[in-house]
Amino acid sequence: MTRDIEAVGFDVDNTLYKLGPDIEMVLLENIVHSVSSVRGQAYNEARDDFFAHYNELHSASASLAKMGVPNGKALVQEAMENAGMASVLRKDAKLRRLMLSLSKRYKLFLITGSSLEHTHAKLRALGLSDPGLFKAQICSDSAYRREDGSAFRRVSEILSVPLQKMMFIGDREAIDILPAKSLGVKTAIVNGRSKEADYNLDAIYELEELLL
Ligand SMILES: [Mg+2]
Repeated sequence: MTRDIEAVGFDVDNTLYKLGPDIEMVLLENIVHSVSSVRGQAYNEARDDFFAHYNELHSASASLAKMGVPNGKALVQEAMENAGMASVLRKDAKLRRLMLSLSKRYKLFLITGSSLEHTHAKLRALGLSDPGLFKAQICSDSAYRREDGSAFRRVSEILSVPLQKMMFIGDREAIDILPAKSLGVKTAIVNGRSKEADYNLDAIYELEELLL
């Protein structure tokens, strides 16, 4: 099923790296900052409120919902895409080897909700900043989106690869999997589960077996 694939694309956050405890702490600090600005509340006050719920619920979006913060899910996503994340990311030699091997056989691309600047900071931190490694990069500063499929169509144009010969890997069904699938792009989900995805991966490194 992967024989026809010519281009392989990736989401960045919670796809090229997995959320771990230290990354989670930076993420939670970012969320508290957003909460304090959304509510016009002092940082320490917002922090106490948030962690009172979080320590019980262990879920940032559930805590925000309990606190009555609107668009909690979007807020968590924004926090994850914030530049501060780059400072806690570490070089991943295994991922780098995988990407270099994939790049010899496929055209690689990125589609991310992060800005170009934040994306490059994260790629540098992960050790994936080789020039030309990703032949197309659609970041949040561009006019193209995953949700309406325009980002996938744009990549198809840039790389001259038909949508049916592309594969996309991400962690969220609603944003990474469904829009791609509806265009005929093959999909794989990592750090999440989806009945709609063509492949459910336990780790991104499983792409070696799938694609190489
Ligand atoms: Mg993601």
